[in-house]
Amino acid sequence: MGFATDAIHAGQSPDSATGAVMTPIYMTSTYAQDELGKHKGYEYGRTHNPTREALEKNIAALERGKYGIAFASGVAAIQALQGLVKSGDHIIASDNVYGGTYRLFEKIWRDYNINFSWIDMSNPDNIINEIIADTRLVYIETPTNPMLNLTDIKRVSEIAKNAGLFTVVDNTFMTPYFQRPLELGADIVLHSSTKYLNGHSDVIGGIIVTRKEDIHEKIRFIQKAAGAVPSPFDCWLTLRATKTLAIRMKQHNENAMKIAGYLQNQSYVKSIYYPGLKTHPHHELALKQMSGFGGIVSIDFGDAELAEKFLRSTKVFTLAESLGGVESLLCHPATMTHASVPKRERERMGITESLVRLSVGIEDVEDLIADIEQAVNL
Ligand SMILES: *Cc1c(COP(=O)(O)O)cnc(C)c1O
Repeated sequence: MGFATDAIHAGQSPDSATGAVMTPIYMTSTYAQDELGKHKGYEYGRTHNPTREALEKNIAALERGKYGIAFASGVAAIQALQGLVKSGDHIIASDNVYGGTYRLFEKIWRDYNINFSWIDMSNPDNIINEIIADTRLVYIETPTNPMLNLTDIKRVSEIAKNAGLFTVVDNTFMTPYFQRPLELGADIVLHSSTKYLNGHSDVIGGIIVTRKEDIHEKIRFIQKAAGAVPSPFDCWLTLRATKTLAIRMKQHNENAMKIAGYLQNQSYVKSIYYPGLKTHPHHELALKQMSGFGGIVSIDFGDAELAEKFLRSTKVFTLAESLGGVESLLCHPATMTHASVPKRERERMGITESLVRLSVGIEDVEDLIADIEQAVNL
């Protein structure tokens, strides 16, 4: 089936008890058993929930994977990767991952003697020099936040496979509508479903998808044993949201493309970062591995005061952390999402005091452009 059809139907069929077309929210912690040792496959809410199962099947289908395992947040999904490593193991990770991923790995996992090489993944061959006998995983995020740098998923997966390593891709920014890492050779794809998958800024969630049975078993075990499961209501909201994922992503992309095109020609913009622009250093790779460019656009005003004024003056764009919702947001990475990154490191990455990240929503794009114009001209 096509993507939009799967988005609406995969994992869902009319409820067997009532015919309800929409998957019910099964708010229950436990299930009646017919007799000792005889039940309907559902024993306890942490392990099994039909609403959660529907969501897991739905997103697994969209990523063209086999198994979906849902979590209470994106970082809980990343934490569940611990099912694949043990003390003494080594992970090669992209040096520009989501801040919470870096914090989890460096501030928690390292204490359990899991070691990391943080490298520039814009050249995947950099991985080769870092591989040691204890290496287990290669962890990437593409495009990166907020600089929108791309990593060649196919090449990374090839290098990892040749060395017997698993490749993990955080696909939060693109969603399977624009990029499907499993089809490019990755073993695991994960999401903060808080962002585009849910898309309405009203749920915190995460999910892992894989085609491999052994990986599925290990991650499923962590889901049950560590228990960071999402509520049935949150699963239902996310399931409701993925029905419109295709049209939302189309519109995010169209609006972001128009805004990037507009901003590119404004004299007050010193630099603009959007993979859909021909001037983006990874535009060719974007055309190769993505079918769209997403809704995140970063701009550097080259003037911290102007950036500050802009952030203060928009009326449709809201100043807030997070991204991927239907409403347009903006954020100041240097003091918000990336405040914990040391200043020198930040500036090396391009995250200056005058950089602003736009999460372009699906409002009328004319209103968004007018909002930007009035904010810079105030
Ligand atoms: C937000 C985010 C996460 C973390 O997800 P939470 O749902 O906030 O726990 C991980 N990766 C990326 C790329 C994100 O944007």
